Amino acid sequence: MSEPIGQPPERVRVVVVGAGAAGLMATIHAARTLDGAGGVVALDGARKIGAKILVAGGGRCNVTHHEVTPEDYAGSSRNAIRKVLGRYPVTATVEFFRELGVELKREETGKLFPTTDRAQSVLGALLDAVRAAGAEIRFPRRVHEVVAMPRTDDGNHADGFRVRGDDVDLLADRVILATGGKALPKSGSDGAGYEIARSLGHTITDAVHPSLVPLVLHDGDPIRDVSGIALLTRLDVRDGRGKMIATYNAPLLCTHFGISGPVVLDASRHLLNAHAAGDKAAVIVASFLPDDDRDTFEQSLLAAPGTATIHSTLRGRVPERFIGTLAQAAGLDTADRVRTLTKDARKRFLDAIFSHRLAVAGDRGYTFAEATAGGVPLSEVRLDTMESRITPGLHLAGELLDVDGRVGGFNFQWAWATGYLAGVAAAAG
Ligand SMILES: Cc1cc2nc3c(=O)[nH]c(=O)nc-3n(C[C@H](O)[C@H](O)[C@H](O)COP(=O)(O)OP(=O)(O)OC[C@H]3O[C@@H](n4cnc5c(N)ncnc54)[C@H](O)[C@@H]3O)c2cc1C
Repeated sequence: MSEPIGQPPERVRVVVVGAGAAGLMATIHAARTLDGAGGVVALDGARKIGAKILVAGGGRCNVTHHEVTPEDYAGSSRNAIRKVLGRYPVTATVEFFRELGVELKREETGKLFPTTDRAQSVLGALLDAVRAAGAEIRFPRRVHEVVAMPRTDDGNHADGFRVRGDDVDLLADRVILATGGKALPKSGSDGAGYEIARSLGHTITDAVHPSLVPLVLHDGDPIRDVSGIALLTRLDVRDGRGKMIATYNAPLLCTHFGISGPVVLDASRHLLNAHAAGDKAAVIVASFLPDDDRDTFEQSLLAAPGTATIHSTLRGRVPERFIGTLAQAAGLDTADRVRTLTKDARKRFLDAIFSHRLAVAGDRGYTFAEATAGGVPLSEVRLDTMESRITPGLHLAGELLDVDGRVGGFNFQWAWATGYLAGVAAAAG
């Protein structure tokens, strides 16, 4: 750790550790609350600020979602998530960005994007707002430790914090920890914040794992041979006893390693969570004709003309190349006649289409994940201020907390909401 030699630490009001979505939001609102008096410093270890905002939504940045409910999230209790989201709803996000000059538009899926379709306009506006509010971002400044100074006489508050790191030695009245999770570690979010939170008395959930991550299928799985195909799919995540954990209906993308696309990312969170909890028998079951009923489809096979084949039956209903994938998964040939399939063969065919157990060998890890499941439990923070219940004067925001959303702008909404609450409260405290 390098630090200025022989100089006393600089004293500031609020230090924000991590200048990602949550940290930038916190910085802006802390500085605004102090009304231009200064003293708000954000520190980030990355060489480039906002890398994750820039790559989000394929470079268009899915800022939030038209409708955000606690059911769109997993992690700490729904009730706690509801309380936080209720204090900074989507309308506040839309209004905040409008005020920064970023108009949002709603797409068919309910996702909200900037009308420019450029993530850069979102990041640029946030950075301008930091400057306009009189706050400062220092980077690359990786923080290694945050130490609560001894308590004051009233026994309630730490007498500020000492924040040290690379070229950093600051004394702050309040600290906002917004270091993110572990997803996309090259962006600077590598989980170091968990250790800082721990050192300040917090716990981290037993399970911390990638969320919204592509899944690897076993070698030889026919799905790996049709890389590039996308199709609407329903994925049911079931526990080892067959009970439904979660279900999603959205496009699935076949890749050279396995499967990706929104429906897979959403389902991955629940499968990995079950596995992390020791339920290795949890599975994902796919229906590649999500709008069809299995029994009705079976009746149509039995009533099909004698010349109808697997190929002619599925043609136009799933992508052409995927017909062979389904036939292969059932141990059949695309030229097989559907009406004369044996009962067993028909069952295999129907299973391949409607109850296809995906042979998941693993996941693509944090490098390819969009979020992290697990983190600091919400029970350890005050939900109106995001202030730590364990170390008063410390606030926590963003993905560092044990909350992760599904695909669609929910993770950013969490970052904006918690960043806002932490920023306002830290400056007012
Ligand atoms: C490829 C990709 C696409 C995504 N697309 C979307 C999307 O379209 N919509 C959506 O809602 N969500 C999306 N997400 C998720 C979303 O980006 C995150 O949930 C959100 O950015 C979390 O914000 P955060 O501020 O909590 O953490 P982060 O954005 O991870 O920011 C944390 C910051 O802390 C810094 N930091 C970490 N440790 C230290 C330290 N010790 N010292 C100093 N600085 C430190 C890091 O450098 C980083 O800048 C996407 C994620 C990825 C990876």
